[in-house]
Parts: sequence; C-alpha cells; structure tokens
Amino acid sequence: MFNKNITIGILGGGQLGKMTLDVANKWGLKVNILDADINCPSSKFCNNFIQGDLMDYNSVMNFGNDVDIITIEIENVNVQALKDLEKKGKIVFPQPGIIETIQDKSLQKKFYLENEIPTSSFQIFKNITELKSFIISNKISFPFIWKASKMGYDGFGVKKVSNIEEVNQLKDCHCIIEELVDIKKELAVMVISSKSGEIKNYHTVEMEFNKNSNQVEYILSPANISEKLSLEAENLAVDLAKKLKIVGLLAVEMFLNSEGEILVNEVAPRPHNSYHFSIEGSYTSQFEQLLRSILGIPLGSTKTIQNSVMVNLVGDDGYSGPASYNHFDQIIGIEGVNPHIYGKFETRPNRKMGHVTIINRDLNKAKEIAKKIKETVTINSKK
Ligand code: ADP
Repeated sequence: MFNKNITIGILGGGQLGKMTLDVANKWGLKVNILDADINCPSSKFCNNFIQGDLMDYNSVMNFGNDVDIITIEIENVNVQALKDLEKKGKIVFPQPGIIETIQDKSLQKKFYLENEIPTSSFQIFKNITELKSFIISNKISFPFIWKASKMGYDGFGVKKVSNIEEVNQLKDCHCIIEELVDIKKELAVMVISSKSGEIKNYHTVEMEFNKNSNQVEYILSPANISEKLSLEAENLAVDLAKKLKIVGLLAVEMFLNSEGEILVNEVAPRPHNSYHFSIEGSYTSQFEQLLRSILGIPLGSTKTIQNSVMVNLVGDDGYSGPASYNHFDQIIGIEGVNPHIYGKFETRPNRKMGHVTIINRDLNKAKEIAKKIKETVTINSKK
C-alpha cells in the first residue's frame, strides 16, 4: 500500500494535520492540505497546500478531486462535498455520514440513546424560545448543561445554566440541554478501526481541566483508576466505534460519575488532544494509526512504552498578536521532556500553541514536572 502514486488529502491544517504530516513525511507519502489560513501549522510541511474554506462545497470538491484518499483533522467540514466525492469514487475516511452525525451534538446524543450507549439524559430544542417555553411551564428545572448543537469546540458553546437570566444570555440556536453530571473524573479512549476491519484501542487516559478556561490542561497516561474501570471504558469505546462502523480514529470522551458509572460525553472522529502522548509514550502514535487505518495496512501496536503526562501550552491572558515562546531553556534539560511547538503565527488567550509530553515511570513525578513547565513557560506577544 506504500504506493507512491497515492495522494492523501487532509481537510484542515492545524496541529493535528502537522503531526500527521510528520509520519507521512517519514514514510514518503504525498499529502495535500486544505485550510483557510495560509500560515496554518501544516502549510509548510505538506506536498501541496490549498487555501480554502473547509465549510465551502466548491473548495472541498476541488480539493478532493485532486487526491485519492480524503480524511479530516477537524469535523466542521462540508459533508455534502464529501458525500459527492465518495459517489465519484474517492475514498473518504471517516465516512461522511458519520462526520455528519458527529458534527451535531443532538444527533450524537440520539445515536447513543438508540444504540444503548450510556450517556447523560438530554432534551433537544429548535431554539432558545422553545427552551424558555419548557422552563416557563416547569418541564425543566435548574441547573442544567446547555450545548449548542453545532460548531462548538474546547468548551465554547457549552454552559452550566442556573437561572433564567443565564438562559437569556445564551446564543439563540438549535441546542441540547443535559442533566448536570456529578463528574468524578473525565476519561478518554482512542479506538482505531481499519479499512481492513481490524480494530484496536489504546488504554484509558484521564483528562484534567483548567477550572477557569474549562479546557483540558493535563492528560494522565494511564488514567488513575482501577483496572476494572479502565477496561470498562475501553470496552464501551470499542462498542461505540463498532456501532458507528467508523473507519479511522474515534476519540471517545467519557465521564466517571460519583456513582462509579461511565457515561459517554462526546466523540471526535480524528486525532485528539488526549492522545498526543502516544507520539513518545506508545509504540505507535495516533497519527501513524490514522494513516495505517485509512490505507488499510496493519495497525500498529497500541502498547505503552512508558507512563506520561501531557500538558497543553496555551496563549497567556491579555496577549494577542505574533507569538513569542519564553523560558523553554529552563525546562528543556529535564529528563523525559518532549516539547511540541505548533508554529501558529499568532497567539490569543487560551489558544492551543503547543504541548509538552513528559515521559516518566512515576506518574506523580511526571505531573510535578508538567506543573513546573506550566509555571515556567509563557506564551505572549510583544505589546
Ligand atoms: P466541547 O465539545 O466544547 O469540548 P463538551 O461537550 O466536551 O464540549 O463539554 C465541555 C466540558 O463541559 C466537559 O469536558 C465537562 O467538563 C463539562 N460538561 C459537559 N457536559 C456536562 C454534563 N452533562 N454535566 C456536567 N459537566 C458537563
């Protein structure tokens, strides 16, 4: 399958695309990238960079016509174009119908319900007016979690709502509300399903969130939970991937609640922040697995080489403009420290600018180093 005449097209040129290109370049595979931003992290490292809007039908169609296999690194893409490219004989993984379901949180939740995947209870609303009418007639009580059905990411488009004033501040769009889960831990499992039918999964990891930004700050690999719970999460994720019949990667985000139950929160059909550690921490990285799965060649081992903690590096508050990374020299000499700089030209508050994976047999020690990195490295811009 290492056919030099095959060109892979990736929709999206962010850091996930860039890290996939690292593997493609190692293997001498041709990859084209489509992204609206000519300065995106992937543009300098691909075979052919095409500037275009991922949500625009013609841009995706024209891009897809020039490649053999199409995949994604972000789910907000024009699905109709992908369906039409498939009809024209192009290989599209993950399958467009699955991307369509995942793009919309209300369709995702319905899928879980219909396929007996444990998830928090929910209700779907056409708009805020409909939601308000349910509140006024006492069919809903506070507090609840509100989510915009589409285009949310990294916690944008998700709000805990405790009173009617907060309802009035919500964006008026198609939305869902969910029961507020008493979360003990947030977990993730990455499943890889190959075109050939082979399925593998990595072990369960734990996601720790920053309380202010509500973004993932640390990933602990493996999760600090019992073997039994870890296996339960992995089995649930594999079951979900099988029910979706997806080809490619499926990152399954889950909650462990205070009763010890595991509930699926949401999924992403692409490489995911929670498995960046697999570059140094596993036999095969998630990015290599993506290429293996869509090419239909045997999947790599998902075994762990060493325990690790990943820390996200985000733009400091109060700075927007050309990025400057500071004080890396103070942490780069520590054993097991692996920095990744995404090469985004501009920083913004909380924008993901890079990450560091710390390899250490002792997870507590790795976490200590990760915290030190977080305190030391700053990402800002000259004012
Ligand atoms: P996004 O797609 O923006 O990442 P998520 O659906 O993952 O949004 O929600 C973001 C975060 O909000 C979750 O990681 C979790 O901390 C919190 N959250 C989401 N749903 C619930 C819920 N039903 N109960 C409690 N907290 C929730």
